[in-house]
Amino acid sequence: MSALQRYIKSFLLWELVMGLKLTGRYLFARKITVQYPDEKTPLSPRFRGLHALRRYPNGEERCIACKRCEAVCPALAITIEAEPREDGSRRTTRYDIDLFKCIFCGFCEESCPVDSIVETRIFEYHFEKRGEQIMTKDKLLAIGDRFEAQIAADRAADAPYR
Ligand code: SF4
Ligand code: SF4
Repeated sequence: MSALQRYIKSFLLWELVMGLKLTGRYLFARKITVQYPDEKTPLSPRFRGLHALRRYPNGEERCIACKRCEAVCPALAITIEAEPREDGSRRTTRYDIDLFKCIFCGFCEESCPVDSIVETRIFEYHFEKRGEQIMTKDKLLAIGDRFEAQIAADRAADAPYR
């Protein structure tokens, strides 16, 4: 662009006119603002929200305390302790996720050989007291129990892509 063209454009406030043209286009376009929380956008079955630990239909917890999720977690957010039970099976005695450390990468979910630790669609939660960000085994199992139907449906929908 020549110096003369630049001068004329700056004299006519060309960039400003172009900016206003763009603004005007969106002024009359269909509005896409979502009135959250009254309205919500759809969530993917792969959405990575709050964690849950799942059980089998007979009520037995899925987790076999292999600690793969703990090993793969890049944020060192998972702490597991395990012991053999009386029947010889290995189960966790402690399973904590520190949500202040978690970066919701989903590696724990991907690494689990028995589909035990999963991330749910839950993204609306808060903490009121120090320490509440630690998701204990009991809390994780309770979330799994409550949302099992949705979790199972999401896993089934995502299965062909895994
Ligand atoms: S989502 Fe990622 S950061 Fe969070 S606990 Fe799982 S592996 Fe760790
Ligand atoms: S949640 Fe899965 S990956 Fe983690 S210890 Fe249990 S079985 Fe292993």
